[in-house]
Amino acid sequence: MIASSTDRPTMSPRTSAARSGGRAARLDQICASASALARDAIQADPSHIGDHVGTTTEGDRLVTHRFNCLLPGYRGWHWAVTVTRIARSRHVTVCETSLLPGRDALRAPEWVPWRDRLRPGDLGVGDLLPTSSDDDRLMPGYLLSDDEAVEEGLWERGLGRARVLSREGRAELAQRWYDGDHGPNAPISLASPAPARCGACGFYLPLAGSLRQLFGVCGNRFAPDDGRVVSVDHGCGANSEVVVDATVPVDELPTVYDDSEIETITVRDTMKRDGV
Ligand code: SF4
Repeated sequence: MIASSTDRPTMSPRTSAARSGGRAARLDQICASASALARDAIQADPSHIGDHVGTTTEGDRLVTHRFNCLLPGYRGWHWAVTVTRIARSRHVTVCETSLLPGRDALRAPEWVPWRDRLRPGDLGVGDLLPTSSDDDRLMPGYLLSDDEAVEEGLWERGLGRARVLSREGRAELAQRWYDGDHGPNAPISLASPAPARCGACGFYLPLAGSLRQLFGVCGNRFAPDDGRVVSVDHGCGANSEVVVDATVPVDELPTVYDDSEIETITVRDTMKRDGV
């Protein structure tokens, strides 16, 4: 009996007026006084049915009674029971019962499609992740792309690939790579010497195509980014041009100049004595 519909089909004034033959429906006093009948119609444990909190006029002789719901986990929800009667009769009957959310009801968050929920790294071993036919990152392989390297790759394989990266797809991945852990702002890059950039490193293998201007692959087995795409201005301490000063410092004894004393030395004039 518990209806889980969260969008209550409330009747707009226009609908209500239409059912009333073009005039606003008035609260039917006989239906409005049938709250006990409405309460009995709720197929739930009586301890889960709270106070009567109001009535709503849905149309001529059509009234909805609302009761607080005391079910655990249903804070702010209401039992709603719609009752009616035929004209010139005092016999009230129940049309429907439902459980509807109130203004402060606890409700499930909005549904998010799986393709919007998916995050990098969610794909596990054995999982399949189909790419939709209208994925903006890809374009049909029979169309000429604006990247010569993509064209070469296409025809080198003979029949070519069904789809290749579009300009939008390349721009998106370039921005993602550049902003990630292999770009210039990665912690290892910021901590390395300023000249130790990948673009000046012997282990840097530039990519093909237009991405070559900004990205390459690190081929240094000792670098944390070995085998990964790095930006040309990324860097690390394993850069091939990093030079460590290998000279061993030698302790020198301090040289002391004492020029405050003048030492007088007597020199014999031997040339005069010898008559030269
Ligand atoms: S060793 Fe370091 S500087 Fe050289 S390419 Fe790899 S990540 Fe870049």
